[in-house]
Amino acid sequence: MQECIEKSSKRTTRAEKAQALFKSGVRPIEWSADCWTVKGSKGEYTIKRDNDVFTCNCPDGLYRSHQGELCKHILLVQLFIDWQRDVARWAVKTMVEAL
Ligand SMILES: [Zn+2]
Repeated sequence: MQECIEKSSKRTTRAEKAQALFKSGVRPIEWSADCWTVKGSKGEYTIKRDNDVFTCNCPDGLYRSHQGELCKHILLVQLFIDWQRDVARWAVKTMVEAL
């Protein structure tokens, strides 16, 4: 099995940071379908979704949102949503197969 070394750039991207956080077991707290809290290294941040536009109140998020980029907290929430969808799909599939 070949190792994935081609992507080893000097800087870790936000997506990679979010994936690393997710893999280490960090999960957003879901308050509603459109509101989450993520614990960051310097505090807790609130991520909100409005018409599929995600906003985060961390300094990076406030700054980056003007440039159309997403901070790692938003990326983490998006990973979380995808993961929940996968888990739900898998659960339904298992239930259907068990019938
Ligand atoms: Zn953020």
